[in-house]
Amino acid sequence: MDTAEIRRRFLAHFEAAGHAVVPSASLLVDDPNLMFVNAGMVPFKPYFLGQETPPYDRATSIQKCVRTPDIEDVGKTTRHGTFFEMCGNFSFGDYFKEGAIELAWDLITKPVEDGGYGLEAERLYPSVLVGDEEAIGLWMKVTGLPRERIVQLGPKENYWSMGVPGPGGPCSEILYDRGPEWGPDFDVTTLGPDMPVELEDRLLEIWNLVFMQDELSAVRSKSDFDISGSLPKKNIDTGMGLDRVAFLLQGKQNMYEIDVVYPVIEKAQELTGKKYGADHDDDVRFRVVADHVRSSMMLIGDGVTPGNDGRGYVLRRLLRRAVRSMRLLGCEDRVLPELMPISRDKMGETYDNLVSDWARISQVAYAEEDAFRKTLQAGTQIFDTAAGEVKKAGGSVLSGERAFALHDTYGFPIDLTLEMAAEQGLQVDEQGFRGLMAEQRERAKADARAKKGAHGDTAVYRGIFDEFGPTEWLAYETLETESRPLALLSGGAAVPRLAQGEVGELVLDRTPFYAESGGQVADAGTIVFDGGELEVIDVQRPVKGLVVHQVRVLDGELDPSRLVHARVDPEWRTGARQAHSGTHVVHAALREVLGPTALQSGSYNRPGYLRLDFGWTQALSPEQVRDIELVSQQALRADLAVAWDYMTLEQAKEWGAIALFGETYDNTKVRVVEIGGPWSRELCGGTHVDHSSQIGTVVVTGETSVGSGNRRIEALTGVEGFGYLARERDVVAQLTGMLKTQPDDLVGRVQALTERLRTAEKELEKARVAQLLGASAELAASASQVGPVKVVAHRADGAAGGDVRQLAMDVRGRLPQGEPGVVVIIGQADGKVSVVAATNDEARARGLSAGELVRAVGPLLGGKGGGKDDVAQGGGTDASRIDEALALVSHEVAKRAVQG
Ligand code: ATP
Ligand code: MG
Repeated sequence: MDTAEIRRRFLAHFEAAGHAVVPSASLLVDDPNLMFVNAGMVPFKPYFLGQETPPYDRATSIQKCVRTPDIEDVGKTTRHGTFFEMCGNFSFGDYFKEGAIELAWDLITKPVEDGGYGLEAERLYPSVLVGDEEAIGLWMKVTGLPRERIVQLGPKENYWSMGVPGPGGPCSEILYDRGPEWGPDFDVTTLGPDMPVELEDRLLEIWNLVFMQDELSAVRSKSDFDISGSLPKKNIDTGMGLDRVAFLLQGKQNMYEIDVVYPVIEKAQELTGKKYGADHDDDVRFRVVADHVRSSMMLIGDGVTPGNDGRGYVLRRLLRRAVRSMRLLGCEDRVLPELMPISRDKMGETYDNLVSDWARISQVAYAEEDAFRKTLQAGTQIFDTAAGEVKKAGGSVLSGERAFALHDTYGFPIDLTLEMAAEQGLQVDEQGFRGLMAEQRERAKADARAKKGAHGDTAVYRGIFDEFGPTEWLAYETLETESRPLALLSGGAAVPRLAQGEVGELVLDRTPFYAESGGQVADAGTIVFDGGELEVIDVQRPVKGLVVHQVRVLDGELDPSRLVHARVDPEWRTGARQAHSGTHVVHAALREVLGPTALQSGSYNRPGYLRLDFGWTQALSPEQVRDIELVSQQALRADLAVAWDYMTLEQAKEWGAIALFGETYDNTKVRVVEIGGPWSRELCGGTHVDHSSQIGTVVVTGETSVGSGNRRIEALTGVEGFGYLARERDVVAQLTGMLKTQPDDLVGRVQALTERLRTAEKELEKARVAQLLGASAELAASASQVGPVKVVAHRADGAAGGDVRQLAMDVRGRLPQGEPGVVVIIGQADGKVSVVAATNDEARARGLSAGELVRAVGPLLGGKGGGKDDVAQGGGTDASRIDEALALVSHEVAKRAVQG
């Protein structure tokens, strides 16, 4: 049965049983604890937590999931993908354990002809939480299986919670026995409380049913928690692995061989010339390739771009591992342009954005491969140098520091270092490497903790939310409103009052303040009350629906009994609206100039300023930047209407609205902001102007690189844009004044001036050298005689290193031929002292060395130096003893010269 049919049957089964069919949400969630959606229940969390009322009692979905912790298992077990799809059915206070067991059992055991999956009941083993008699009884009743077929597992396997106080409950898994070739024989009655590792690939977990029934007051670990009561409404959350069922029903060995994944392995065999199934290590690599190509494509499809932290880093790692594995399989060419389209053809049948957005997706992926290939090239050179040094020194181990530097600075993966070292007969201090990696991770963690700051602990906000519900949020309607304080916080804890001068947090029942989100900074303004005033420093939404103001008490004392008047600074808001609408305009202009593959990957705007990051691999030309600015200006001049509306995500997509990285959507409505109708349509929660002309102006001030594959454009809007232009005009005015010319002639004038300056400098240099050398004949003639040796020791004030050297060489050339001669010149310029010594052949024949002379006088000059026997150079910073040093020269010559 192909995957599409398994998918269809799942949804049909639950739809027929009264479930609303809900499409998969994006892989990106707005949840501080989750990097990606990792289970089917994630989009339904607000319903399970009672924060929102579900529009249905039963729902079913097939949700895209990414589980990065499973990355090391990929290809090694038969059943773990970094990307997979989870089929689920959900009950919100409707049916419970019995209904869930019946629905699941019916679907998997119903004969194929009748629309089921036709799995043999003899091979199926339900598991329950140890001692969950209710579940055991229900399984026996529904399936007719004897008690001995039901496995009892401990809370690590079979108790579900979110790791924090809130809902929890026992689980039941459905396990499928794949037979003795996949693991040892077992006896159900003695299995548990943990599932032995050697049985995990034999007793394959295909479905997990979670019975949400308990209220947890504390969760210390997976198996240590306090149940404080029962949930008023009991819920069902289940997850069936689509890929796992597919490999069972398709008679394949593992999830990488199913119909929607295996074609990539086939292509990889063709590219590498290796056969899948011939060698264990190679097979793992083939599976890694197939898995990672698919996962990274799905992530890019949902808006992730490669980067050095967070989601971007996960994507980068997946892409690089895929490329690396292909190299280990023997293919060194570009591989993604060959492999990814194959995955697109399969997955695109379900996710049509992969097809419609292919130009962008493929560009991001291919650019990352190209960047990695460059990294490999540079890293290989560094590696070769390091390996050469180790060998030259007679060693056989590449140090942990070297391996770490290769990894940290050049992004060179350790497994590559290991392998290349082995090829050269070297070992790598892996332990040292791992130690350094661990240190780095600790540093990163400490950083992250430090950054979390004031909103690190959301429990207290959640408490406020549970008590008072969502804030009535009026940012779109008004700039000021009366409101009532609901809670005051200081240092993260509730307080009865905030005194004058204090900084604390304030939750109001309603507020006109925009909380930072979607790239737009928080509003500024004041909150006044009878006898006092607060300055609003920051506004955030630490939990969905709850607006928290960070305030400083300027005057008076605030306690919750007082009514307040909240007022956004209107000037600030005007600037913010201009900047945010300006961001949309620049984005649309960017796409008009560069084409639809240029897609925003992040943005930030505050009054007067905006920046936009977008996936693009080359620097923009000055013409492109000017065109973007011009298209933006034309959009302002056309005075396009700005409008917004709420609609379903589906409608928004049909409208061509651009959904961006990091934004999340409930199953309810999304807000679409459009400028000039279809010209610019984006999902956006920000505040905007009413007409594009109100943006005032858009002045692009820079275009730079922000990491591989990403560029940043910066611009100023409104009065700030004007201010920038005015400053530039002032600069031009000052220059034309100074140069007595017209603005149009300015560039020509400056060019001519620099040209003249350069010529003058050259002449000056010539004159200086001539003057310096002019003295050299005289110096040579005035050489003193130390025994048989002619010695010139001369002080050249104002001469720096290069000049001193030239003078010394010149004087040496002018000393009488055939006689030993030594020249030492000490110059000083700009606080630096330079000494150069030169000897001729005859002097060297008498054992006189320029290097030794420099070493002898150097310490007097507060420095050191040295060099060869014929010419040597040194320097220092102490000019006070130059004469002493010169006097020392004759003495040293006399001491060192060998009598001839
Ligand atoms: P396992 O112990 O096998 O890793 P799990 O306990 O992590 O599974 P759940 O969190 O209960 O799994 O997820 C529900 C279902 O999703 C599982 O029964 C399985 O069918 C599927 N699933 C979980 N992780 C993966 C994965 N990495 N790749 C493919 N399918 C998965
Ligand atoms: Mg798991």
